[in-house]
Amino acid sequence: MTFKVVIFDLDLTLWNGRVMYNDTLQILKYMRKNNIPMYIASFHSAAPFVTHNLGIINYFNEIHYGQFSSKAHMISQILKYHPNVKKNEILFFDDDKFNIEDVRRKHGIRTIHVKNGIKWNDIPISSAQKYFNDFFSKVF
Ligand SMILES: [Mg+2]
Repeated sequence: MTFKVVIFDLDLTLWNGRVMYNDTLQILKYMRKNNIPMYIASFHSAAPFVTHNLGIINYFNEIHYGQFSSKAHMISQILKYHPNVKKNEILFFDDDKFNIEDVRRKHGIRTIHVKNGIKWNDIPISSAQKYFNDFFSKVF
């Protein structure tokens, strides 16, 4: 595993405003199985309500949200919980290019620009790991 903490945007990253993207749940399950702490950083003022309704709220250590904050600010709070994790071992996923660049500039963590919803291909793990995860998720 090349990463130890994961931060997700919510809207247009994990869901489209109506339903979750196809790979979202498997990705969250994979992270949890590997004991990766997960956080949400979202401008959506009802982010806890949304994640609760989608049935995924329990996957996250914390949900940082609000219209009047910045992603970089939300993420500085999250980084305080993990002072010993290297910057390049922290992933941030977002569909918005501005957030991606702002967070990379201010925090130097590893940012991943999501297009049309998060996909397995966005996760920096080997194809063998992906293959086995896919296999086991079908068998068990
Ligand atoms: Mg978004």
